[in-house]
Amino acid sequence: MKIILASHNVSKLAEFRSLAKGYPVFILGLQEIGYELDIEETGETFDENALIKAQAVHRVVDDVVMADDSGLCVGALDGAPGIMSARFGGLGKGDDDKNTQLLATLEQLGDVDRVAAFHCSLAVVFPDGSREIFHGTCRGTIASEPRGTNGFGYDPIFIPEGEERTLAEMSEDEKHALSHRGEAVRAFLSTFCSHTVDDEGGRTLE
Ligand code: IMP
Repeated sequence: MKIILASHNVSKLAEFRSLAKGYPVFILGLQEIGYELDIEETGETFDENALIKAQAVHRVVDDVVMADDSGLCVGALDGAPGIMSARFGGLGKGDDDKNTQLLATLEQLGDVDRVAAFHCSLAVVFPDGSREIFHGTCRGTIASEPRGTNGFGYDPIFIPEGEERTLAEMSEDEKHALSHRGEAVRAFLSTFCSHTVDDEGGRTLE
């Protein structure tokens, strides 16, 4: 079964493909279906933004479409950057700059609790227009400096609960086992890939 991932982010596409290994699905990104428009994330929650992205692409394809909206919520920053994670510090900033800026922002606050969590909302829109949202969370703390070169985004400054390494110091499989996106993707695929009967309008993937 083909699933379209409503994202231009190639790192995310690679993560989704790797997470879906072993399930009877193949995932295409927006480049691969020739969808070039930028989808504006005008929602106020991860759920709303995920749905906006999935529904925008659902309008132009007949396949199952999924989109995740995810981000890092830092306790001492009242949950920021949250849904603004991709735009933290201004549009167009690279991952290294965003990490440096987040560490500097925390530094300015002094000796604060560095607790944080990644959240993922995964919206899935089926060919008949019905939809589901799956969630995943990864709790942890913000490191004092960036460490590691794997992964993407805030991985070098995030230490999952019970670990000493940052996500960027872990292998792909180790990150998948405990990441917010891993939890949400497994919830989706294990629910919809295990059903074989489709007499209610296309809500199965086999
Ligand atoms: P989105 O494409 O609007 O969902 O942007 C999410 C942003 O949150 C990304 O650009 C990253 O900066 C950050 N982010 C989301 N998931 C992860 C992750 O697994 N590791 C590191 N950063 C992430």
